[in-house]
Amino acid sequence: MKTIGLLGGMSWESTVGYYRAINAGVKNRLGGLHSAKIAMYSVDFEPIEKLQHAGDWKGTARILCEAARSVESAGADFLLICTNTMHKVAPEIEKSIKIPLLHIADATAEVLVNEGIKTVGLLGTAFTMEEDFYKGRLKENYDLNVLVPENEDRQIVHNIIYQELCLGKTESNSKTEYLRIIDSLANRGAEVVILGCTEIGMLVNQDDTKVRLLDTTAIHAEKAVEYAI
Ligand code: GLU
Repeated sequence: MKTIGLLGGMSWESTVGYYRAINAGVKNRLGGLHSAKIAMYSVDFEPIEKLQHAGDWKGTARILCEAARSVESAGADFLLICTNTMHKVAPEIEKSIKIPLLHIADATAEVLVNEGIKTVGLLGTAFTMEEDFYKGRLKENYDLNVLVPENEDRQIVHNIIYQELCLGKTESNSKTEYLRIIDSLANRGAEVVILGCTEIGMLVNQDDTKVRLLDTTAIHAEKAVEYAI
């Protein structure tokens, strides 16, 4: 079994989900007392969030490249960045290490392509919903048609992530808002809605809606298990 490298803490609330899902996945496949071999670096999220919102992505890359090198020297055979948003600096991180990076958007797109899905809704931070590092990758590399919420709804989705979910808060009116936005993406033609932020699964899950949801945390964790075994 390979050692899985995790770059976590963004936020730690969602890294808990990765840790649980990866270990459960290994146990499911191998049985007994088997568990995952993991080398994790969990960052302090506050300074990273400040740099993101100040537009200082180079600053975030410096912190994450150093953390990624630590994960590599701790013996990881490959790396996962446990957040969709910070894949904005995935190219810099990839350059700073020799081990492979399992990109969260690729893992998600593979599921969609295997199922013949063409049009998807995307929820995540404003960075993820609006910029090309994620949406563009889905479109260009996988020929997917990506729908995002309207401007005002993108702001709602973004604020709930940083002001509630990353702090471990799940509010029922926020859940209602997310479900309304998911419905509107489906009404516009989304066959599936990607939960493209690793905390969203804390707020909504498949039992809450008839619209098919794809949780990137679960998909990314499952990909890591597959790759490790
Ligand atoms: N975990 C989130 C994501 O998947 C947001 C936190 C961050 O900015 O990294 O995008």
